[in-house]
Amino acid sequence: MIKSFHRPTVATVDLDNLIYNLQQVKSHLPKETDVWAVVKANAYGHGAVPVAKKLSHHVVGFCLSNLDEALELRDAGIDIPLLVLGVVPAEDIAIAQSQNIQLTLASQEWLETVLAMHKDLSGLQFHLKVDSGMGRIGFKDSKSINQAIQILQAHHAEFSGIFTHFATADEADDHQFQEQLLIFQEILKHLPHQPRFVHASNSAAAIWHSETVFSAVRLGDVLYGLNPSGRSLSLPYSVKPVLSLTTELVHVKELPDQQPIGYGATYKTKGSEWIATLPIGYADGLTRDMQGFYVVVDQKPCEIVGRISMDQTTVRLPRAYPLGTPVVLIGEMGNQVISVQDWADYRSTINYEVVCLLSDRIPRVYHSSG
Ligand SMILES: *Cc1c(COP(=O)(O)O)cnc(C)c1O
Repeated sequence: MIKSFHRPTVATVDLDNLIYNLQQVKSHLPKETDVWAVVKANAYGHGAVPVAKKLSHHVVGFCLSNLDEALELRDAGIDIPLLVLGVVPAEDIAIAQSQNIQLTLASQEWLETVLAMHKDLSGLQFHLKVDSGMGRIGFKDSKSINQAIQILQAHHAEFSGIFTHFATADEADDHQFQEQLLIFQEILKHLPHQPRFVHASNSAAAIWHSETVFSAVRLGDVLYGLNPSGRSLSLPYSVKPVLSLTTELVHVKELPDQQPIGYGATYKTKGSEWIATLPIGYADGLTRDMQGFYVVVDQKPCEIVGRISMDQTTVRLPRAYPLGTPVVLIGEMGNQVISVQDWADYRSTINYEVVCLLSDRIPRVYHSSG
C-alpha cells in the first residue's frame, strides 16, 4: 500500500519512549537476562526498521513472525541476531542460511521435510519450540525434543535455544501459567545440554512473573508502552506510550437541524451543528465500530458522528474552527488523553490489534533525541 504523504494524517512514533520502556522492564529483571525485542507485524504497526535501528544496541536480537520480516531488517543493515517465531516453509531454508536468520523448530515432521530437500544444515541456528499449553506449534515431550536435537547436531546445525509461550501470563489467575511453567521446566531438566537461549517470557510474563524468567525474554507489547493485560492487571512500574495519531480538519460547515450525515444516514443533526470532516477512515485502521467514539480538537472531546467511511470521518465540533485545526485521535492535547487502550476498549478488543491494524497508508514520523 502506498503511503499517503499528501494529507495531514500521521502517526508519530517517539523512539525515546521505546528505550525508556525497555529500561523500565530491564531494571526489574535479573541483570544478565537477554532481551529479544519482538518487532513482528511491522513492530506492532510502529515501523519495524526505525524501531529495530533504535533498539539494536540495547537488545540481543529481534523476533519476527516470518522470513520476509527478517529479510526486511537484514536489507536495512540490521546485523544482530534475528529469530523467526513461526514455521518457515522448508523450501526457504537456504534463505535463512545465507542471511544468518535463526529459525524455530516446532516439529519432527517439519525437520524431516527439510532434510529431505536439504542435507546440509550447517550454519543454521535453531530454537526448539515447546508447546507447554498454548496449543499452537511446538514439541510436546522430551523424547521427541531430544531426538530432534540429535538430528540437528548430526547435520551440523546449532541448537541455539529452547522456548515456550504462555497463554495466560496476563491474567490474575496464574493456574495455567504455573502448569505450563512446570511442563517447560521438566523438559529443560531432560535436555542433553542447555542451549545459549532459554526463553519463555513475553511482556506479561516478564512483568508479572519476573521471578520466573529464564536466560532471555521476548518483549513486544510493553516496549510500545502498552499494558499486555489491557486493564485487568496494573503495571508495577510506568511505561510511556510510543505512538500517537493526529490529523487536521479539512472541511468545516454549519448544518441546520435534522441533516443526515454519512452512509446510511445513521446520524441526523439535532439543531444547528458544526460538522467537520477528517481525512482518515477505516482503510487507515479507524474501523467502523469507532462510530460514537471521539477525537480531540482544541483540547475538547468531539464525537465521531455518522458512519466512518473508507477515507473520511465526520465529527461534531462545539463551534466553528478553521481548516487545518489539529486533531488528536490517539495521544494527548492539553488535559485530554486518548490512549490505544481507549480505542481497544471501545472496540472490545486488545491494544495489540489496534496498533497492528493502523494501515501502511498512514505515514509514520519518528522522534528521537539521538
Ligand atoms: C508475539 C510474541 C511475543 C511477544 O508478546 P508480547 O505480549 O507482545 O510481549 C512473544 N513470544 C511469541 C512466541 C510471540 O508470538
